[in-house]
Amino acid sequence: MTLKETQALEERYLMRTYKRAPVDFVRGEGPLLWDAAGNRYLDFLTGISVCSVGHCHPQVVKAVHEQSHRLIHVSNLFYTEPMARLAERLAESSLGGRVFFSNSGTEANECAIKIARKHAHGRGIGEPEIVSFEHDFHGRTYGALSATPGLAANEALGPMLPGFRSVPRNDAAALREAVGERTAAVLIEPIQGEAGVFPISEEALLAAREACDEAGALLIFDEIQTGVGRTGSLWAYEQTPVRPDVITSAKALGGGFPIGACIAGPEAAEVLEPGDHGSTFAAGPVATAAALAVLEIVDDPVLLRHVRELGAYLREKLEALDGVAETRGRGLMVGVGLAEGIDAAAVGADLLDRGLVVNVPRPDTLRLLPPLVIDSDHVDLAVGLIEESLLGFSQR
Ligand SMILES: *Cc1c(COP(=O)(O)O)cnc(C)c1O
Repeated sequence: MTLKETQALEERYLMRTYKRAPVDFVRGEGPLLWDAAGNRYLDFLTGISVCSVGHCHPQVVKAVHEQSHRLIHVSNLFYTEPMARLAERLAESSLGGRVFFSNSGTEANECAIKIARKHAHGRGIGEPEIVSFEHDFHGRTYGALSATPGLAANEALGPMLPGFRSVPRNDAAALREAVGERTAAVLIEPIQGEAGVFPISEEALLAAREACDEAGALLIFDEIQTGVGRTGSLWAYEQTPVRPDVITSAKALGGGFPIGACIAGPEAAEVLEPGDHGSTFAAGPVATAAALAVLEIVDDPVLLRHVRELGAYLREKLEALDGVAETRGRGLMVGVGLAEGIDAAAVGADLLDRGLVVNVPRPDTLRLLPPLVIDSDHVDLAVGLIEESLLGFSQR
């Protein structure tokens, strides 16, 4: 099928929820992608921080292949070994409590929201409230959507769930003010990803921890984008001064297979009881086997140090370019703020033409989420393409 034919089917039969770039990918290997016409691309987006171990990593392919030949699905009414082993690995590598598996990031947050509300009811709070930062992104289902201030403002999708409020990003004083008797949880991204890569300040994170401790509320970090090694530690919170009570994971966890996880520390882990929550597909043997293969690769101090070092190298090279005003982020989660007057969407489209896949989360920002397994040659190649592209734009 040609790209035009695929586009015609998409135009006729898919709901109009996405504005897609005019490329049909057919193959991936490591940091590379190929389209149907045979053009090669360097992927600095990885399906929005999903294929962090690169495309079709042999260990992930092997795990999926072997598991899918043995058993694909039985439901959560039974035991399977990959489910149990993955839960152990996630809990022991983070907060030490228990895990609930889901099929996506937004569902991982739904679990966290349920835990927060039930935990609050257990403390006698009748109408619990969850506090987030403006520009946070937590997902598209109604609970997570209600905690996503920018999207929750869309009245055409209303009404949103009650019990959610937000304060300006990084405003520690406003956060302390907002957290009180009714607060069930503070739910935040330690680095806002969809907003354009904005790290939350240590001051604001400490304020969130203190306010939650005083109120008896849970501190929940949405690590769906920042987790699984993206920032150079397995979880982003490890590089902050605080330890959350609950974290949520998804995106890179399954190496491309749909899986999410809500990981709770010892106290929050005991909140949900039989009947409180569930999912037919979640914790399936193929997705959990894929995730175990991913963690085998990523949960490695050598690779995580590589991510921190390469991230620093990438940002240093980017900051030396004409047309780059600033870079933001940690590890290989990098926002590139462009100089005033440069349209990031036009740069993003131009880079795709040149064979570099990036994302444009804001009119002034490129977002880079390359595979964690790239080396400095890939960085040099990408920065070279960005430099060439920006030359064409800064002159105008
Ligand atoms: C992508 C993302 C989500 C939503 O995950 P889905 O799998 O698309 O539901 C939630 N929170 C953050 C921080 C994300 O980056």
